Amino acid sequence: DPRISRIASSIRVIPDFPKPGIVFQDITTLLLDTKAFRDTIDLFVERYKDKNISVVAGVEARGFIFGPPIALAIGAKFVPMRKPNKLPGPVISEEYSLEYGTDIMEMHVGAVEAGERALVIDDLIATGGTLCAAIKLLERVGVHVVECACVIELPELKGRERLGDKPLFVIVNAA
Ligand code: 5GP
Repeated sequence: DPRISRIASSIRVIPDFPKPGIVFQDITTLLLDTKAFRDTIDLFVERYKDKNISVVAGVEARGFIFGPPIALAIGAKFVPMRKPNKLPGPVISEEYSLEYGTDIMEMHVGAVEAGERALVIDDLIATGGTLCAAIKLLERVGVHVVECACVIELPELKGRERLGDKPLFVIVNAA
C-alpha cells in the first residue's frame, strides 16, 4: 500500500527518550502531516468497517488519539482504558508488569456488555504487556476481542508472541 511509506516517514525517532538507550517513536509528527494522519485512520477503518465491531477500546494515552476517529467511522462506541485513579465511576482493574515494576489499567464498569465485539487500539506495541492487560480487562467482562491494532510494532521485543493467538494488525514495523 503506497500510503504506508508516507506514514512511516512521518514518525519522528528520538534517541535517548525518556531515558538513555531508549529510541522513542514519536507519533506527534504523524499528527502534523494531515495526509499521513488521514491515511492512518483510513487504513484502520478499511480493515474494521465490516467486522461487526461494537467497541473500540483505546489505551491511554495515545490510543485516545487514534481510537475515536476509527470508532466514529465504523459506528462503534469508544471506551477509554485508563491509568489508575483517573476514571470517576466504578472501575475494574488489571495489574500488569512493566520493564521495572507494575502498572494498573482501569475500565469503567458498565461501559461494555458481555458478548460485544471489541477492537483494542494503541499507538505502539513493544513488549505487549499493555495490550495484554487491555485484552484481559475486556475478556473478564465477557467481551470478545476481535483484534488489536497499533500504528507501530517494535518486532524485536516480541510483543506479538505475548499476545498468543490474538490477532495483531500494525501499519509500520520499526527496526
Ligand atoms: P508495551 O506494553 O508493549 O511494552 O509498551 C507499549 C506501551 O508503551 C504503549 O502504550 C506505548 O504508547 C508506549 N510506548 C513504549 N515505547 C514507545 C515508543 O517508542 N513510542 C511511543 N509513542 N510509545 C511507546
